[in-house]
Amino acid sequence: MPTGLIAALDVDAPERARALARRLAPHVTMFKVGLELFTRAGPGLVRELAALRPVFLDLKFHDIPNTVARAIEAAGDLGVALVNVHAAGGKRMMQAAAQAAQGFPGMRVIAVSVLTSTPLAEEEAAARVVRIAEEARACGLHGIVCSAREAARVRARLGKDFLIVTPGIRWDATPKDDQARTATPEEAARAGADYIVVGRPILRAPDPARAAAEI
Ligand code: C5P
Repeated sequence: MPTGLIAALDVDAPERARALARRLAPHVTMFKVGLELFTRAGPGLVRELAALRPVFLDLKFHDIPNTVARAIEAAGDLGVALVNVHAAGGKRMMQAAAQAAQGFPGMRVIAVSVLTSTPLAEEEAAARVVRIAEEARACGLHGIVCSAREAARVRARLGKDFLIVTPGIRWDATPKDDQARTATPEEAARAGADYIVVGRPILRAPDPARAAAEI
């Protein structure tokens, strides 16, 4: 399957998100709703967006196992295709998340490994991310979020059925912003990412739909 494009709808108002979603829909595989938009617009907007394209709810749940399990069920009831927990929450939390997701066969749960904004040497990042990926799979999760720089190692170790989602996508013309372990869309695809996540390089483009189409 070719690498899909997930557009991060990191905007501060539901009307902006709706307008962007309508323009981006033909060019993207999924929409991502993160902390800012969810906190401003809430679950109603997630349902609306999910009618246009599958939604990745990126709230990085990190709490006690029971609380995370209930939140995963809430995400399932919202009809999202993808949701994540923070691997730092530990094995029992990830197992509880995986179990809670069993009632929602259309939803996959992935673990955030090492944030792409964390500057780390390649070797150390790869070793940490591969260890987290193995742990996430052992807990019953479907995949991980990591930087594209570690994706090839994760793919080699975890095989083709493990979902790899890579944010921190940048190229020559785009500023790095707060991202540290960046890669281009081509590098991510070559490394075996299932999806790349792109926010500001699309949102700040003069024509976001065209930027998405070009990616
Ligand atoms: O604007 P930019 O392309 O950097 O956006 C990346 C998106 O991916 C943001 O919404 C950010 O919250 C999210 N993300 C990330 N790194 C992770 C997990 C999620 O950048 N490890």
